[in-house]
Amino acid sequence: MDDLKGLLRAFADVAGPSGFESEVSDLLRRTLEPLMDEVTVDVLGNVVGTRAGEGPRVMVAAHMDEIGVMVRYVDDQGFLRFAPLGGWFDQTILGQRMVVHGAKGRLVGVIGSKPPHLMDEEDRKKPIKLRDMFMDIGAKDAADAAALGVDVGTVATMERSMAEMANGYVTGKAFDDRAGVVMMVAALQRLQGKEVPATMLAVGTVQEEVGLKGARTSAFGLDPDVALVAETTIPGDHPEVKKEQVHLETGKGPGITVADADGRGIIVPRGVLTWLRSTADDAGIPYQLDILSGGTTDATAIHLTKSGIPAGVVSVPTRYLHSPIEMLSLDDLDKGAQLIAQAILSAHRHFRTTR
Ligand SMILES: [Zn+2]
Repeated sequence: MDDLKGLLRAFADVAGPSGFESEVSDLLRRTLEPLMDEVTVDVLGNVVGTRAGEGPRVMVAAHMDEIGVMVRYVDDQGFLRFAPLGGWFDQTILGQRMVVHGAKGRLVGVIGSKPPHLMDEEDRKKPIKLRDMFMDIGAKDAADAAALGVDVGTVATMERSMAEMANGYVTGKAFDDRAGVVMMVAALQRLQGKEVPATMLAVGTVQEEVGLKGARTSAFGLDPDVALVAETTIPGDHPEVKKEQVHLETGKGPGITVADADGRGIIVPRGVLTWLRSTADDAGIPYQLDILSGGTTDATAIHLTKSGIPAGVVSVPTRYLHSPIEMLSLDDLDKGAQLIAQAILSAHRHFRTTR
C-alpha cells in the first residue's frame, strides 16, 4: 500500500490543467516505460503505452488533466481575471492559493473577491461567482505582471499537496483523475512479467475536463476491441447526501458504472458489465454498481468512436470532487487496480479481436 500511496502522491502533486498536461505526461511516460513494449505521445499529447499480446486489443484510459484556470485579462493594477478550465463549483475556488505557471516559472497566486465587510446585507448572502473573483500574484501593475511572465493565456492550478488522514484515507487535489491514472499504472504493474493474452493499450488522455477530447482521438487511432476507463466517482457517504440519491460509499470497493448522465453519457453494454462483474466476483473483489445523473467520462467519447467500441468504467469513490480537498480510500484504489488487472487478464474470454 505504501507504493500505491507514493504513486498517488507523485501523480496528484504535479500540475496538469487541461491542455497543459506535460508535467503529468512526462511522469506517466517514465512510469510506463518499464511496463510496456513502447510508449509514445501523440499529436494532442495523449501518452500511449502498448504491450503486444495475441488476444483482443484492450484500451485502458485515464485522463491526465485536472481542473484549473486560465488568465483572460490583466488589469492596470496587475490583478488577473480568469476563465475556468473545467467545472468549478465557484465557492470552492474563492480563498484558495494557486500555482501560476508563468513563462518564467512558477508563482504563487491567491483568489480574492470584494470583502464581505464592504457588501450590503443582501449581497453577503449570495455566493460569489467565479467571474467576479480575481487572482492576486503581488504584481504592481500590468507591466509588472508581464515582466513576471504572466499574460493572457497563462494557466494556474490549485496549490495543494497530498496528505494522509485517518483509516487509510488521503486528501489532495487532482485525484480526479490522477487516482485513475494510478489505478491504471498499478494494474499494469501487477501484470508485469506475467503472461497476458490481451494486447494492452494504456492511455493517459488529455483535456477530459473540457470535452473528453484526448479520449476521442486516441480511441480513433488505436481502434481497440474494448475499452476500460479508470476514473473517480461520487460517493454519498457524508452529510447532506441521501442514500437513495447516491448509495456508493468509500471503503466499499471500486464503482462499476452502469450508466451516467442518466444514460446520455454512456449506457454500458451488458457484455462489458458481465465481463467486469464476473471478473470481480471470480477474484473476490468487492464492487459497487454506479448510476450517475450528472457527469460523463472518457468512456462516453470512446464508445461512440468509429463504428462503436464497447466501453466501461471502473472508478474510485472520491469525496468532494473538483475541489482542493478531494478524499479517497487507498483500499478502494488498490481494489480498483486489482479489478482492472484481472479484467485485462480475462478480456479474451469476453471479447474477440477484429484483426
Ligand atoms: Zn475525471
